[in-house]
Amino acid sequence: MTQEYPTSGHYDTIVVGAGAGGIYAVHRFTEQGLNVLGIEAAAEVGGVWYHNRYPGARVDVESYYYCYLDPKLYAKWSWKERYPAQPEILAYLNFAADEYDVRKHFQFTTWMTGAKWLPDENVYQVSTDSGAIYTCRFLIMTAGQLSKPRRPQFEGLDSFEGEWVQTSTWPDRPVETVGKRIAVVGTGSSGVQVIPELAKDASQLYVMQRTPNYSVPARNQPIDEELLADIAGRVDDEWQAMLSRASGAGERKPFSAATELTVEEQREALEVRWAAGGHNMNAVFADQGRNFASNEVVAEFVREKVRGIVNDSQTAKKLLPTSYPIGSRRLCVDNGYYETFNRENVTLVDVAEDPIERITPHGIKTRDGEYEVDLIVFALGFEAFTGAIRNANITNEFGAHPTDRWERGPRTFLGLMTAGFPNLFFVTGPGSPSVLANMIAGNQFHIDYISEIIDHMKQTGAARIEPEERAEEAWNNVLQEHADRLIRKQVQNYMVHVNDDGSRVFIPYSGGLHTYVEHCRNVAEKKYEGFAFA
Ligand code: NAP
Repeated sequence: MTQEYPTSGHYDTIVVGAGAGGIYAVHRFTEQGLNVLGIEAAAEVGGVWYHNRYPGARVDVESYYYCYLDPKLYAKWSWKERYPAQPEILAYLNFAADEYDVRKHFQFTTWMTGAKWLPDENVYQVSTDSGAIYTCRFLIMTAGQLSKPRRPQFEGLDSFEGEWVQTSTWPDRPVETVGKRIAVVGTGSSGVQVIPELAKDASQLYVMQRTPNYSVPARNQPIDEELLADIAGRVDDEWQAMLSRASGAGERKPFSAATELTVEEQREALEVRWAAGGHNMNAVFADQGRNFASNEVVAEFVREKVRGIVNDSQTAKKLLPTSYPIGSRRLCVDNGYYETFNRENVTLVDVAEDPIERITPHGIKTRDGEYEVDLIVFALGFEAFTGAIRNANITNEFGAHPTDRWERGPRTFLGLMTAGFPNLFFVTGPGSPSVLANMIAGNQFHIDYISEIIDHMKQTGAARIEPEERAEEAWNNVLQEHADRLIRKQVQNYMVHVNDDGSRVFIPYSGGLHTYVEHCRNVAEKKYEGFAFA
């Protein structure tokens, strides 16, 4: 039975999205006594973990930290794995939604079609695809930074007689893969995860790779029960400890700079981190993110490992990234990715060398060949950072959209707000650590912070808040100063906005969650300096 929702109403806050951010936001705001409405396009809670239900989908942040650090919840949930798969994470988010009792505040299968700021009333007027019109004082975007999928744009796709799906919107029904001829297009984090799983079922799997990525083994394993119980006994302390770490999760400090170590010491450090698995490979040497030569030591170590795994030397050569430093595009974390290419039913197709020309009724036509398949899986990534904000059709009193001023890269203060848009908050938005740190920790920190701002406004009688343009300008300088030291700003990837004149803007805050938290706390201590209240 379809649920009936009210078609009008006034709320203190409207929260857009029911992922990890939306669930916590509705909980936090209702707890502080606000009248809250949540709007979610999907049929259920979960956000990216609802949509990215492709085989092999897993988080690459350890589960001890990839959850709300809330004493009311922590001990009630027992993770099973160090890097849980999508079903376990989705189950956790459902558990959290139940514990926080937030479902009753959400409208599901509802799309926000627009939000318009009405300056005389200091409210947003929010419309939905069901024809409802609501108003709210605060509009909170918890729609995610990697949530608007990049759609396949290949000519002839409509003519394809088989089935095609996207990892980012994997259907909530069984997709037949056993005995099928399958092509996967895209070898980023999603492709690297789905490929080993599909290879187990497919009669033939073609991996269409345009740019090879560095991938490292996750070393997934059952949860360390002792560590989980230990954190459960001191959740508040662990939360503060997480906020004092760059990643917002557990982390090992890098060894010294590679330049300070002998070749033998470098090798030992590399082997230790390779054995530890996951993003540890991003932090072997203190200088690998800044010094090309040190970075190359890590990159070549990983290439050597790949050569040791992949039997066919020609295939191994194509899988090896050589055109950019390791960690400058997001490092992929896998479970048996390179081993998959030793299977007889798996073929690597280099579509940089032999580009895809079109989709035919029977498969994929490249310049030099045609690959007949029953199923095409597109793992093409997202319109990162700005896609969901642009999609939301938010306008200010002059009819402008938040992204109109962002042609030369996103402009925000603390990644939370943009000038000209009162009372509109982005959670884990561009200009915050966002995808460079643990996203659930980022969500929890931001929502707590917004909640405190709303309390402050209540106490001071302010109706509007928006950032000052000069604070935004200064914040952008901070962002670029941090990123200017990093190799990753110089490499094309979805965290860098490149202008027509060649200038580059690094989008997230790259100074680590710990220093970001300090910035935010300083701003709060100075009565939210940089924000203008009215
Ligand atoms: P992605 O990293 O942007 O990768 C997209 C892939 O599609 C790339 O290999 C890209 O090739 C390829 N591609 C795009 N257009 C193409 C075309 N026209 N022809 C051929 N290939 C094309 O996207 P993603 O894998 O979905 O990952 C995005 C982000 O989501 C990750 O960086 C991560 O932050 C997050 N994520 C995390 C996890 C995890 O926690 N383990 C899992 C999945 C995703 P080029 O490189 O040549 O452009």
